[in-house]
Amino acid sequence: MADIYGILKNYYGYTSFRKGQEEIINSLLSGRDTLAVMPTGAGKSLCYQIPALCMEGITLVISPLISLMQDQVRTLISMGIRGAYLNSSLTPRQMEKAISNAKSGMYKIIYVAPERLEMPSFIDFACSQNIPLIAVDEAHCISQWGHDFRPSYMQIADFIAKLPKRPVLAAFTATATKMVKYDIINNLHLREPFSMSLGFDRENLYFGLYNPIDKNKFVLDYVKAHENQSGIIYCLTRRYVDELAKELQDNGINALPYHAGLEDSERSFNQNQFIYDKAKVIVATNAFGMGIDKPDVRYVLHYNMPANIEDYYQQAGRAGRDGEPSECILLYSGRDVRINEYLINKSEENEFLDAEEVKKHIEIKLEKLKLMTFYSTSKTTCLRKRILNYFGEVYIPPCNKCSYCMNLSEEQIKKVKVPAIDKELLEVLEKTRSQLAKRWGVPAYSVVNDRTLREMAIYRPKSEADMLKIYGIGQVKLQRYGKTFINAMKKYESE
Ligand code: ADP
Ligand code: MG
Repeated sequence: MADIYGILKNYYGYTSFRKGQEEIINSLLSGRDTLAVMPTGAGKSLCYQIPALCMEGITLVISPLISLMQDQVRTLISMGIRGAYLNSSLTPRQMEKAISNAKSGMYKIIYVAPERLEMPSFIDFACSQNIPLIAVDEAHCISQWGHDFRPSYMQIADFIAKLPKRPVLAAFTATATKMVKYDIINNLHLREPFSMSLGFDRENLYFGLYNPIDKNKFVLDYVKAHENQSGIIYCLTRRYVDELAKELQDNGINALPYHAGLEDSERSFNQNQFIYDKAKVIVATNAFGMGIDKPDVRYVLHYNMPANIEDYYQQAGRAGRDGEPSECILLYSGRDVRINEYLINKSEENEFLDAEEVKKHIEIKLEKLKLMTFYSTSKTTCLRKRILNYFGEVYIPPCNKCSYCMNLSEEQIKKVKVPAIDKELLEVLEKTRSQLAKRWGVPAYSVVNDRTLREMAIYRPKSEADMLKIYGIGQVKLQRYGKTFINAMKKYESE
């Protein structure tokens, strides 16, 4: 039997599995195809990474976006797991090197873009290797009914059929309706899969709905009160983005804009500043988010009401992927409805659709806008219940984590609610983490996460053995960072 708890602690630094993880891991280890539908931040990656570590050979992970792959591989390496990615960001020489490393058994997990599965050189390589498991991440991309169909995902089954031995298949997604699930199972040719669905709820998120007279003042106060935290502010238009980013900058906050009107280089620069915590706030249109996986986003503010509840929940859901308490605040005004109507009516200048189809699309979008508006204006029940009901889930209120259930006022929500903790020590630890991040050339969250820092501040581990008891500290992190944190705490206490 594989020691999955040992792996969980040694590599990831965690002591218990979250809901669903152990069942999925055991299903894969027993050799059964598995389909898992779990909300963002539930911890899907570990569900295929741990089996990969237990199995002989190389596990392939199919992932749609280059930036996601790079992020995941960076995280693996930071935990001491031998991972690599093969995608178009590599030069031919780097690619050759990676393949030859792989052949010599250097990697346990390789991330690939689906396009690569069609390349003869890659197929030759795969056929020469032992591949016990293939994990398909963001598996909804295989369905036309999903929100992000990618034709190249349709090649996955053909690729698998070419392998000398059929691997176990695992498919993961955060969003799957019945139709999407059906497509995943059929298009991937899953065989009698074990299926796990955890629903949509994100328990660590607070949902707030406010109608401030002065949105800019609200945002400014809120951002100032959350100074040391990362946040995303979504606006409906590029103009709002530019203006709000400027106003924040004028008030001494390093907020950067992100929208499709910026040069590619500026966009990716701003995104990186955000990921590496050089800018705590990013002000963005809906162009921002796909392909970023920053786990420590503590709040998502919607400066405008989005066009529908799907978009809203997806964007708000970028908060708190690490499972820590985070806030999703929607600022509504009547004007937002009219802007959305204007954008919808303008959006359907599509050469592939005839006039009748265009009209129908617009009608559907306007209907969705109505439901979003209704959500934003009627203050009669738990917000979490209303969101989950929209997605067809039953929910029994109160959730005690929304502006309806908690009845928090605008003034109250602008303040940070910090638990009893030595704030000064926490700041020292945060500084230490930034220095380590710089030294290792990784984002701060990849050194250790916020909860790890908080636990250090509370328990103040003095030895390596105590340090290992802290959430998120595994063997590699202990060796790399343990001493530095312990010394920083010693120094703080002696002062
Ligand atoms: P998903 O792909 O489902 O959105 P991830 O795999 O990116 O989620 O995991 C989200 C975060 O949760 C990561 O920071 C991960 O380390 C953390 N996590 C996963 N499983 C556990 C666990 N059992 N205990 C504590 N944290 C976990
Ligand atoms: Mg994921």
